[in-house]
Amino acid sequence: MSVLWVLGAGQLGAMLKQAGTPLGLDVRPVDIESTETLNLSPTDIVTAEREEWPETVATKQLATHSNFVNLATFPQLADRLTQKQWLDRLDLATAPWFPVESDSTAAFAYETLGERVLMKQRRGGYDGKGQYWLKQSDATEIPEDWKGRAIAEQAINFDEEVSLVGVRGKDGETHFYPLTLNLHINGILYASISPLERLKPLQDKAEAMLSKLMGALDYVGVMAMECFRVGDDLLINELAPRVHNSGHWTQAGSSVCQFENHVRAVTGLPLAPAEVKNQSMMVNLIGVDLDYQWLNIKDLELYWYKKEVRPGRKVGHLNFCSGDPEVLQAALNQLNMPAPYPEALTWLSENLPQK
Ligand code: AMP
Repeated sequence: MSVLWVLGAGQLGAMLKQAGTPLGLDVRPVDIESTETLNLSPTDIVTAEREEWPETVATKQLATHSNFVNLATFPQLADRLTQKQWLDRLDLATAPWFPVESDSTAAFAYETLGERVLMKQRRGGYDGKGQYWLKQSDATEIPEDWKGRAIAEQAINFDEEVSLVGVRGKDGETHFYPLTLNLHINGILYASISPLERLKPLQDKAEAMLSKLMGALDYVGVMAMECFRVGDDLLINELAPRVHNSGHWTQAGSSVCQFENHVRAVTGLPLAPAEVKNQSMMVNLIGVDLDYQWLNIKDLELYWYKKEVRPGRKVGHLNFCSGDPEVLQAALNQLNMPAPYPEALTWLSENLPQK
């Protein structure tokens, strides 16, 4: 039987493996630092849990396999410059921007984008890392080492942040989960909630945007589109050519989770519309210790990534799914977590639809 190799052996790889197991698939995440000679067969399939990787013994073997799904797409979306160019080319709304070149000046940034401008490193930035604010009021200049390596983006005064997770099969069939409302604190995702009735009017628009993109890239698998909601408009902030943290709630809240859908798509298995079971919420475990007392909480599912706990590091997540908002509210009340969690839990509580 052929193997589905996953480039990267972090939590996303582990959850892809977990989703593929009941389907009888042999899913093997590979640590990018592995120096092992992989026993790759020509009929195997390769996918990735990350959008960029260094050239190592392991990644070289995987990235030269002829069945690496979406291989050409990864560099296009991993570089914020080419990602933004794709969005512009497809006429998909995104925050106004320009590439930071060797001769770029802060004066030009303020003139064209306004008094607050966010520079983002083209490569390697995630969870709010690799960002640098230019503020006209502080007369911030562009540091030399950001020139030629970043894009500059207008500060968006958004109402809230939402994301859409979709899947596209080899024949172009697409399916989408309902829009997810996300809370980021200091650039890192703390909590998600879905589905929300009040986001339904934006669903078709979001699906059309992501469909256009996946179609243009002839993409196969799960892709996530993170957006700013500004009134009735959606501006694309970031695209992830992989399973995504804001789709983790689908493990508890959907008949087919994002991980299974990705595995099905890349191996050519039938896709089916996923049925959303009930109200779901997700809380990321960031820099907090494992506490098995969480398991006493009704309708809670724990995912612990077995990583060393460090400040700011994602080490697990909690999913909650229930048809009874009171059960979900009670769960939030029972979570006793350090700052900034009270902010995240209050945010979830405020967004929970009432009966
Ligand atoms: P990113 O790494 O691009 O996903 O950004 C992380 C977070 O920074 C986002 O989820 C937003 O909360 C914030 N952010 C990113 N871009 C902008 C922007 N242009 N204006 C305002 N906030 C932003």
